[in-house]
Amino acid sequence: MTITFLGTGTSQGVPVIACGCEVCSSPDGRDKRLRSSILVESDNTTIVIDSGPDFRYQMLRANVQKMDGVVFTHEHKDHVAGMDDIRAFNYKQQAPMDIYADARVQSTIVREFPYVFAENKYPGIPQVNLRTITEEPFLVGDIRLTPIEVMHYKLPVLGFRINDFTYITDAKTIADSEKEKLRGTKILVLNALQKQAHISHFTFQEAIELAQEIGAETTYFTHISHRLGKHADVSSELPAGIKLAYDGLKISI
Ligand SMILES: [Zn+2]
Ligand SMILES: [Zn+2]
Repeated sequence: MTITFLGTGTSQGVPVIACGCEVCSSPDGRDKRLRSSILVESDNTTIVIDSGPDFRYQMLRANVQKMDGVVFTHEHKDHVAGMDDIRAFNYKQQAPMDIYADARVQSTIVREFPYVFAENKYPGIPQVNLRTITEEPFLVGDIRLTPIEVMHYKLPVLGFRINDFTYITDAKTIADSEKEKLRGTKILVLNALQKQAHISHFTFQEAIELAQEIGAETTYFTHISHRLGKHADVSSELPAGIKLAYDGLKISI
């Protein structure tokens, strides 16, 4: 399977609109971060985890030709705002899109995209099938995902383990019982927002500590703020086995 980081930025993306800081004005392509999302491709299945406001451009940039499902971690705008653009795959595949979310996230999606779920539908709107994520592992095509509950301050958010790869975004704390699901993962992705304390995200230091506790062969940080610093500078501060992800990074799992 292949993982592609479609976006590795926090909710505002990097650069931030109208910000002149050294990160936002950096010429390094790795300092251009769209909103966080990954593409997961097996031999016969392609899924995306989250479809934030940059979804359309992410699909174009990664030249994604088909999509078998959209899996949501949680309902914050930077993770769901681009769902309208799944229409392109509806037209091409002549089928509704399977949308995987837990019951709470589904209720927000229904509220925020009311026209998609209206009784009398306007022509051309997205066609979706809502699929409910519970605590149990589930299959999208031949990709098996195990949900992991993490806490985004007080909001439960889902991380996902796929074989020995685990993707966690928007976490501040993880209960010990859920941490057990991370054990033995070879590649771990964690959110690491900035060095300054934050109420709902791991800081850089907290993410390093959790990465070292879990001990994956490689840990990648994502959901990065312009306040963390430039990719090249921050990378040189990281312990062995921990890297900053960047948009376009592909890894095999
Ligand atoms: Zn987020
Ligand atoms: Zn900035």
